[in-house]
Amino acid sequence: MNPTGTQTGIREILQNAHHFGLAIPAFNIPYLPMLEPVVQAVVDLEAFGLIATARLEWIKFEAGGLSQVVKEFARWSRPDYVRLHLDHVPVIDEDNLWVDTTPIFQEAIRLGYASLMVDGSRLRLEENIQAVRLVVELAHAAGIPVEAELGAVLGHESGPMPSYEELYASGRGFTDAQEARRFVGETGCDWLSVAIGNIHGAIAAGRKDLKKIEARLNLERLELLNQATGIPLVLHGGSGIKQDNVLAAMKHGISKINVATEIRQAYEVALKEQGSIVQAQQAVYERTRWVIHDFLQISGIRGQVSGA
Ligand SMILES: [Zn+2]
Repeated sequence: MNPTGTQTGIREILQNAHHFGLAIPAFNIPYLPMLEPVVQAVVDLEAFGLIATARLEWIKFEAGGLSQVVKEFARWSRPDYVRLHLDHVPVIDEDNLWVDTTPIFQEAIRLGYASLMVDGSRLRLEENIQAVRLVVELAHAAGIPVEAELGAVLGHESGPMPSYEELYASGRGFTDAQEARRFVGETGCDWLSVAIGNIHGAIAAGRKDLKKIEARLNLERLELLNQATGIPLVLHGGSGIKQDNVLAAMKHGISKINVATEIRQAYEVALKEQGSIVQAQQAVYERTRWVIHDFLQISGIRGQVSGA
């Protein structure tokens, strides 16, 4: 609640975060029992967060589907602290297949998701613009903000990955500032996921348990993107990036940071080693606290970003 007694919308909360140089973490929930301890950690630290599920989390993991996530969220929901976000609905997916995205977005809107992400980053610029524009129309009619992605945040793909050093040095797939300006102007998207050296944690079998390599961010490129777009920018692959780079990125336009691998592996390792969901939930709680308090240093920001 804000002082006028109404709930502050997530669009405004991200704008506030952008203004103050803060970020809202979006925690991915590939296993439903992770949801409760994540919410608890956000509440206990007076932070603000998004609970996120991506399409691949109900296809390749155990999140179940849109309505299962909504049901679990409703059990633990604390709207003053957390909202529900639909992460990565790809137009072309990790296995290079086309996805019929409209029914997924329609269902998410109907189920009450607070925000949506359409990922057209595997398309050419023109096609990406067209795909995003359609989703923006649909979502804005329901008062819901849309995140889009421009550039290539690699890592989810099933095929072989180029070496990180090679990728970073070449800047291949990095978001271009001129393209970003045009993209935001023509699509009307609210938030933009950018590629500036960040990568996703691998989710392919045989690679998903590996420790993520430490990624770096091109902060000069980020500042150009911030100036070119003027909207909250999003950092995917937030686990395992050099901490000083992440903290600096928040001062240059990154207002939402996706955290997936860090808490997923905490859950999987604890479950495997201790065999109990309760202990795995405890591990997720501890790791989420660490992400909020130690890594992102955003404990206590709830009042500032939500006007509460
Ligand atoms: Zn992502």
